[in-house]
Amino acid sequence: MKKRISIFGSTGSIGQNTLDLVRCDKNSFEIVALTGGKNIEQLVKDAIEFCPEIVVTAYPELLHELRAGLEGLNIPAAAGDAAVLEAAERPADWIMSAIVGVAGLAPSLRAVAQGTVLALANKESLVTAGPLLLQMAAESEAKVVPVDSEHSAIFQALLGEDISTVERIIITASGGAFRDLSKSELEFVTPAQAQTHPNWSMGQRITIDSASMFNKAMELIETKEFFRISEKKIEAIIHPESLMHAIVGFNDGGMMAHLGPPDMRHSIGFALNYPKRKNINVARLDFKTIKKFTFLEADEVRYPALRLAREVMRRGGLWGSGFNAAKEVALDRFLTQEIGFLDMAKVVELTLDKLDNLGILNNQPKQLGDILNADDEARQISRAINV
Ligand code: NDP
Ligand code: MG
Repeated sequence: MKKRISIFGSTGSIGQNTLDLVRCDKNSFEIVALTGGKNIEQLVKDAIEFCPEIVVTAYPELLHELRAGLEGLNIPAAAGDAAVLEAAERPADWIMSAIVGVAGLAPSLRAVAQGTVLALANKESLVTAGPLLLQMAAESEAKVVPVDSEHSAIFQALLGEDISTVERIIITASGGAFRDLSKSELEFVTPAQAQTHPNWSMGQRITIDSASMFNKAMELIETKEFFRISEKKIEAIIHPESLMHAIVGFNDGGMMAHLGPPDMRHSIGFALNYPKRKNINVARLDFKTIKKFTFLEADEVRYPALRLAREVMRRGGLWGSGFNAAKEVALDRFLTQEIGFLDMAKVVELTLDKLDNLGILNNQPKQLGDILNADDEARQISRAINV
């Protein structure tokens, strides 16, 4: 029987890699829903190729364009946030959550409520709502499989293991576009320079977040939320080759490292075929040419995002929502060159300080609305911060 799958954020980097894997194994899958945002050309192209039950753009003003592209074909189209949520309720065996930003949270929660397998790329879902999402998954008996490469690596290293025997988890960071620049040089880098990644090909926002280490900061929080272990056991280290994605250390001194090429199709494919493994056409590592693995300290002074992530992990509650929203606003402000590269961390820190003084972040979110309210407050504050 074919696996019925939906892809949220199908027009993005993760979405396209997912469709690439489906394309290579077309007889195994049936597409329920494809959802995108502004890239209607891609959405139409993929809808024509994969014939989903429904195709959705998040933007109502683009519905006429989507419908025009699908004219004469029997593929229903819809638009708007409510239509995205409705698509997440359509029965599916496997759902990819790959919308970028906090916009991906509501569809993740809807998907999890139907008790399916949720392949979770949208890291904001865990950072802002980890306990809520996992509690809903437990209630609906949904299985959440992480897609972020480091978390897929940890997940794979933990297969058959008892989490209580884990002493430490180390996630690796490439160091991003500016790994070799001095702190004073970092002050003047531009968005265009930040948009190139030495090893991975990803969406624009996550690529810049890699250069600022906000991506790794998010991933530290993701690790704590997904694997439910103390922040004291979680570390980040710079590994410029991006071949070792995570290392899990156990209480008998043994360590399990996960290695693979820097190609998201490995972790997407692992989630797509879980609990089986299938042949995936990614490069195989050749240790004769690799020769060495390099590791460097991920310095929390050079990368304040990592220091802030520690505070967020320690504090819990709505701290992840405040952190993520402030980070998204700071990135927007950097992209329009209103603030500099190093100012992003200052905006986030000052926003968290203000939210803390207002007592907004300490409650444990019980529902989506609690998270969206904190997100809203954090955005307003971070937009107004002068640095
Ligand atoms: P992209 O920017 O490439 O794609 C984002 C997707 O979300 C696109 O389909 C986009 O539509 C859609 N989208 C954007 N805004 C909205 C909105 N408001 N409502 C609904 N849909 C929207 O991102 P990535 O694929 O790089 O990343 C997706 C998620 O996966 C992020 O959370 C990221 O952190 C995470 N991730 C990504 C990795 C990677 O290698 N790329 C690795 C690990 C995690 P459109 O383009 O049509 O406007
Ligand atoms: Mg990652």
